[in-house]
Amino acid sequence: MCGIVGYIGNRKTEEILLDGLKELEYRGYDSAGIALLDNEKIDVFKALGKLKNLKEKVNTYHDYNIGIGHTRWATHGKPTELNAHPHLGEYSYVVHNGIIENYKEIKESLQEQGHKFVSQTDTEVIVHLFESFNNESNDAKEAFQRTIEKLEGAFSILLISKCDPSKIFFFKHGSPLIVARGNEEGEVLFASSDAPLIGLANDVVYLEDGVGGVASATSIEFFSDNYSWSTLPTSKQYAQKDGFRFFMEKEIYEQHDVVTDAMLGRLGENEITFDEFDASIIEGIEEIKICACGTSYHAGLTASYLFERLSQTRCSVEIASEFRYKEPLLSDKTLFIVISQSGETADTLEALKMATKAGLKSIALCNVDNSSMTRVANHTVLTRAGIEKGVASTKAFSTQTVVLWMMALYFGQYKQVLSNEKINDELHALREVPKSLIVDDKIHEKTKRLSKRYLHGHGFFFIGRDVFFPLALEGALKLKEISYLHAEGYPAGEMKHGPIALADPELFTIALMPQNLLYDKIKSNVEELSARDSTICSISPLDFELSDDFIKTQKTNHYMLEFFEMLVALQLLSMEISVRLGNDVDMPRNLAKSVTVE
Ligand code: GLU
Repeated sequence: MCGIVGYIGNRKTEEILLDGLKELEYRGYDSAGIALLDNEKIDVFKALGKLKNLKEKVNTYHDYNIGIGHTRWATHGKPTELNAHPHLGEYSYVVHNGIIENYKEIKESLQEQGHKFVSQTDTEVIVHLFESFNNESNDAKEAFQRTIEKLEGAFSILLISKCDPSKIFFFKHGSPLIVARGNEEGEVLFASSDAPLIGLANDVVYLEDGVGGVASATSIEFFSDNYSWSTLPTSKQYAQKDGFRFFMEKEIYEQHDVVTDAMLGRLGENEITFDEFDASIIEGIEEIKICACGTSYHAGLTASYLFERLSQTRCSVEIASEFRYKEPLLSDKTLFIVISQSGETADTLEALKMATKAGLKSIALCNVDNSSMTRVANHTVLTRAGIEKGVASTKAFSTQTVVLWMMALYFGQYKQVLSNEKINDELHALREVPKSLIVDDKIHEKTKRLSKRYLHGHGFFFIGRDVFFPLALEGALKLKEISYLHAEGYPAGEMKHGPIALADPELFTIALMPQNLLYDKIKSNVEELSARDSTICSISPLDFELSDDFIKTQKTNHYMLEFFEMLVALQLLSMEISVRLGNDVDMPRNLAKSVTVE
C-alpha cells in the first residue's frame, strides 16, 4: 500500500517523480505529493485524490536535483491535503509507507518540546523526531539513525533536509523499498517496486528489513552490510489498456493467455513437474497449511479441496491476519504455502516469517518476482500473470488457482495415490483451462444487460458448494470491491441455518450450479430460496426453470473447468454493475493494491 519514489540527478526531478508515481498509483490514491530540493530551495506540491490532480498543480521552472514523492493509502488521518505526504518539519520532508505504531508517545513528547503538528498522520512524527535530534547534534546522519531506533511498526522512509541538502536518507522496515543506481552519471533512484525504475536504472538493491543508508549523487552509503546489488529485469511489461475500457476488463480478457504461461513447462504430456521444488518436499508432511488474504485466500480455500482430493494430504487454510496472532501450534510436519499477488502483503509476509522461523518448509506463490516473500520462503513458484493493475484482482486469482491445482496433482503423482486414469483425466482437464477462460461475447453481453436489474435491493448472496463455495466468496468480494453493494458468499447448504431468513424478492441470489459436482444438492438449495421469493440468477450450463435470470456457461466434463467458466461470468457481472453505477472500476474507493500495512 502506498508508493514512494525518490530521485537524485540532473534530469527534470519533478517529471521523474511523477512518472514513477504513475507506476505506483494503484498502490494508493487517497492523495499524492512530491517535495523538491536544491541547495537554496525546498518546495512541495500536494493534491487530494488521484495523481492527475497533483500533475495539474505541479508548476515549477526551477531546476531541482533531489526529490521524493508519495501516493497515499491513508491509515492514520483522513485523506485530506493536510494529511498528504511529504510531511514537513521546519526544514525537512519525509515520505513514509507503513504505520508508526508508537507515534502517539513520540508525538506527545515532541509536543512538550514545542514541536507543532499540523496533520493527523502517524508519519509526521518522523520528520519532527529527526529535526529534534538534528537540532541537538547538528549531524543529519546520526539524527536519522537515532530517529529510526525510536520508531516501532512498519516504515519505509525517504527523508530530505535542507540541513544536508545533497542527500536522501532512506530506511526499509516492513514495506518494500528498492534503491537503484541510475543509468546516467550521478543518478540515484528509489521506489517501492521495480516498475518506476525500469528503463532508468540497471543496478538495484532490494532492501532487506532493517537496512538503511544515505545517498548522494556520488555515493550510496549503507548503514549495515546486509545488502547486495542485483540487476533489474530489463523487459518492461508496460501495462496498457490495449483498447479495453479498464485494466480490469483487459485483465479478465487476458486470463486465457496468462494461465497458458502459468502452465508452461509445468504441465507435461503425462505428468506435472515444477522446477522450483521437488515433489519429495511432501515426504513426511502430514498437513499442508495455506495462509493468505483476500482473493488469494479464496484461491487457497479452493486449493484445500484439491490438495485433499488429489494428493490425499490434509489441508487447512488461514487468513493471515488471524493466523499471526492466534499463537498457532506449528509442526515441522506441515508444509506452509503462502499466496500473494504482490508478494508484499504485510500479514501474509509476517505469517511466512513465523512459519520459517518455526522450521516449517515453505513455498511462496506470488506474481511479483523479487518481492519480499520470494526472499523469505524456501521455494518460490511464480504465477506469471504479468502486471496486474486493476485493484480488484482477476488474472492473479485464475493463475493462482491453476498453479495450486497443478501442485495438488504433482503431490498426488508423487505419493502414488491416484490411478493413471485419474491423472490423465486431470491433465486433460488442465489442458482445457485456457479455453474455459476465453471470454464468451454472449456472456459478456448478457452481464451488461443483467447489470441493470441488479442495482437495487438489499443485498446479494453468492452461493455454491465445494470449490464453488470459495468461488462464491470471490464473486461476492469482486462485487463489494468495485460496486460498493453488500454481497456475501455462502455455502449453499448453510443458507437454511440462518441467512434464508433474509430471502425476499429484494434479495438477489447468484447461484453457482455446476453440472459436474453436486448438481442435485445445489438445485435443492436454490429451490428453497426460490420458494421464499428470492430473486435467483443462476450460472450454469444447465437450464433451471426456477431462475429469474440465467447465465449459461459451456458444458464441460470437469468441475474445475466449470469453475473457470463461472469465474469469468462473475468477474464480468461485477464489472458491469460497477460501470452501471458510474464507479471507478480500476481504482475503487478506499482500496489499494498490494496491502503492505497490517
Ligand atoms: N501511515 C501513513 C499514513 O496514513 C502512511 C500510509 C501509507 O503507507 O500510505 O499517511
